[in-house]
Amino acid sequence: MATMISEDCIMCGACEAECPNQAISVGEDLFIIDPKLCTECVGFDSEQMCAAACPPEACIPDPERVESEELLFERAKKIHADEADSLELSDATSHFRAA
Ligand code: SF4
Ligand code: SF4
Repeated sequence: MATMISEDCIMCGACEAECPNQAISVGEDLFIIDPKLCTECVGFDSEQMCAAACPPEACIPDPERVESEELLFERAKKIHADEADSLELSDATSHFRAA
């Protein structure tokens, strides 16, 4: 599922630069994630990097957007079309496979 930012966000900005897809921006009261650009970091990291960087643990799975690893990986390849051939799925690049 895509990641979302809860009302616990304190707008510290720590998550924004961590996103490999530039999916995070400043909203009115919270930082926000564009679900069309969120891949749960599949293709890039073994965990959701925004969540790892967030002090109040405000980056959480969006229960309204349950998505498969395959769909998320395809999204990552579309977003990063210039390097799509070099992206791969492994325990280092997908939280679905990480221990
Ligand atoms: S989970 Fe990853 S891809 Fe999604 S918004 Fe957070 S850092 Fe970006
Ligand atoms: S790291 Fe967490 S608290 Fe900071 S802006 Fe991002 S979601 Fe908000």
